[in-house]
Amino acid sequence: MSSDRSLLNILRRIDGRGYGAYKDLHGRYELEECTLFVDHVQGDPFAAPSRIRVRVDMGLAQLPDGLWDSAVRRLALEDYLARRVRARIPRAEPRRRGSGKSGKIFIDAGGQEVLERTALVLDEDFVEARLQVGLPAAGRRVLGREAEQLLCSDVPRLALGSLVWEAFDEAEARNFVDCIENQEYLREQLQVYGLVAFVANGSILPRESGASDRPLRGSDVVPFDTPETLRVQLPLATPMEGPEGLVETLTGMGIPRGVTLVAGGGYHGKSTLLRALERGVYPHVPGDGREWVISDPGLVKIRAEDGRRVESVDISGFIGALPQGRSTRSFSSDDASGSTSQAANIVEAAEAGAAGLLLDEDTSATNFMVRDARMKALVHDRDEPITPFVERVRELYEHHGISTVLVMGGCGDYFDVADHVVVLRDFQPRDATSEARRIADRQVREQSMGSRKPIGEISARIPQAESFDASRGRRDVKIDARGVDRISFGRADLELRGLEQLVDVSQTRAVGYAIHLSAERFMGPRTTLAEILDRLENFFDSRGLDELDVFHRTGHHPGNFARPRRFEIAAAINRLRSLRMEQV
Ligand code: ADP
Ligand code: MG
Repeated sequence: MSSDRSLLNILRRIDGRGYGAYKDLHGRYELEECTLFVDHVQGDPFAAPSRIRVRVDMGLAQLPDGLWDSAVRRLALEDYLARRVRARIPRAEPRRRGSGKSGKIFIDAGGQEVLERTALVLDEDFVEARLQVGLPAAGRRVLGREAEQLLCSDVPRLALGSLVWEAFDEAEARNFVDCIENQEYLREQLQVYGLVAFVANGSILPRESGASDRPLRGSDVVPFDTPETLRVQLPLATPMEGPEGLVETLTGMGIPRGVTLVAGGGYHGKSTLLRALERGVYPHVPGDGREWVISDPGLVKIRAEDGRRVESVDISGFIGALPQGRSTRSFSSDDASGSTSQAANIVEAAEAGAAGLLLDEDTSATNFMVRDARMKALVHDRDEPITPFVERVRELYEHHGISTVLVMGGCGDYFDVADHVVVLRDFQPRDATSEARRIADRQVREQSMGSRKPIGEISARIPQAESFDASRGRRDVKIDARGVDRISFGRADLELRGLEQLVDVSQTRAVGYAIHLSAERFMGPRTTLAEILDRLENFFDSRGLDELDVFHRTGHHPGNFARPRRFEIAAAINRLRSLRMEQV
């Protein structure tokens, strides 16, 4: 493939020189069938790889308009293309050349979830892949010939092989896009049908292992099958090819708004179902097994998270005055307990606008969830600051519009507050609502003495912008994701292990940058956290994720962001150890 002379000239000139000479590559080059941008050059062969973009003209790529004629179809096709590039990388880097990451190519394509991301961009005029490449070196010397092979041959071949429609499996591409579009369409239908979630018959919920997000396979896997009384049928936007021909609707279990209890014996699949609902806020790739598990995007997983920091949260609805008369109207702690952290998680989710809560007994604080009659006899109500969740869950729905799906196999106290009870047995759901009601009527649960005051309005809070400092020493801004559940933010280390709906390290990275961006742009002396989240979402919608890196820390190449939800951004802010908030 013949190439832009200037690129070849530079590579020949710097061949054999110190690695720093690669900096001369910055710029734009017209290759024969694509355009190459070198945005950021790594400092040495072992540093984070260099950032380049490769662009193919739409005139050549010929991606059919119909495949990306709406926002969701475009997102789906971009995601599909990024995966396609990733799948073809092994063919493009035939051998190792040189030290460190020499000759390696990376793209930030997704896992089982399909997220808005910046690794691949579709435009009227072009399609562009954002890659990271290891510029080849021998020791710390430039390997010019190898770099020429990488930039003038391997990368263009990768781009043309992945992005030009002629080379596609058309049916697979169309199926991917239709599948994602249908998932988002079903998500809209949840509203129409008064549901918070839907699980289609035939879904495969269990995962391969605790370390793998791929579907469990084998003859022991029990596909989901809905009991008749909970069955709903939802329409698809585009008919899909099923085992028995084209299908226009899907049948499955609808989880209505309100309070739903999932009960059943240990090891019968309760947590697996709940985890599928947690992830169901995002679309999934075809074949995941959970692609037709659709949750309201406003569902937030709540768990106990002792040790987390809490800043000025009114948890008095759940936890009254603490020992030594400490008020809980504005509760702060550097080391919250199981119950206070769980209460704070709920109040913060409500503040951020949650439509519903997902709770699992496995990760809840027992004393936060229930308090039985015998314990009430031993420890008087006036000595127990906690109003258990069972006494608040209806109020949350009736007065705050917040639904709950709760997994609880160990305690029947929730029978009389649940609108629906689903029992799992051998991974199969059964509608046990009326049975549970009868049991509850026979054995009346003793409510707390005296009427506790209602939770009341969730008070808004104003974050103080000074408490967000992303600088580190003399370096102005330093933000990075250290895995899915940790961000280093300036000098601080932000621990996010409690956020079970953060699924991609690129989302985590975006969360870090979003915090910084909001401190710089969107915070003000009167701006509440909820308003800041609104502004951020508007910003993402109108400007796109590319703009997150407004400080161009990464050059003009933001190829590794994925969109986080507002709830995870809020949760990260809420966990900053330096955070100061003012209650309105
Ligand atoms: P529980 O929360 O009720 O104790 P889990 O959801 O943790 O149960 O599931 C127990 C085990 O059963 C897990 O290893 C899980 O992968 C497996 N499992 C869950 N659902 C299914 C299913 N539908 N088919 C086969 N195995 C399943
Ligand atoms: Mg469990």
